[in-house]
Amino acid sequence: MTEPAIAVENLVKKYGETLALQGISFQVYPGEVFGYLGPNGAGKTTTIRILAGLSSPTGGSCRVLGQGTFKNPALYRHLGVVFEESHLYERLSGIENLRFFAALHGVPAARIQELLQTYDLAKAAKRPVRTYSKGMKRRLLICRALLHDPEVLIMDEPTSGLDPTSAAVIHGAIDHYRRQGKTIFLSTHDMTEAETLCDRVAFLN
Ligand code: ATP
Repeated sequence: MTEPAIAVENLVKKYGETLALQGISFQVYPGEVFGYLGPNGAGKTTTIRILAGLSSPTGGSCRVLGQGTFKNPALYRHLGVVFEESHLYERLSGIENLRFFAALHGVPAARIQELLQTYDLAKAAKRPVRTYSKGMKRRLLICRALLHDPEVLIMDEPTSGLDPTSAAVIHGAIDHYRRQGKTIFLSTHDMTEAETLCDRVAFLN
């Protein structure tokens, strides 16, 4: 039987008195697009922060590609994350943002150009990111997450606040990436999006 790319077992997260995750379990298999659905405040971002190694679980376990996620920089080479909040350097241009992260990962310049072309940012590449529309910023975040061609892509509500055309571009990106056999974990509260894109879904309440 294939090993799961993501294995979450009885995961618990408490923030003081707040119980954000109450013992959740799921597996995501290689090559799957896995939808993680839930209303506001259900704990989607909390789960993603743990998957990305930014937050430690209070209980249970979380493994990505067979490894523990918390404080495990070796995993970053295999993981791309698109957070809901932008976290881009607004005063730098699009290409400068990508160059910065490419340097961290040792990614060649040609890969930056390829992504800028694919995500229709080549023309705006030299403009400061603060002049970008929401859709452009989201596309740049995807470029940043894909720079090092990760095996697992984690996305936190990647189309929230976007118009249907911009959302369709993001959907195209997800579809393109899944065709390369990659594993995608997609949090959303959009049922239609989940139905269109995902092989399996989990509901978090
Ligand atoms: P949304 O769809 O609104 O982004 P979400 O499903 O991503 O919501 P989380 O952001 O994971 O939900 O929040 C889950 C719960 O944990 C909420 O009750 C939230 O208030 C709480 N929470 C999240 N982060 C913290 C924190 N740093 N300190 C205290 N409580 C927190």
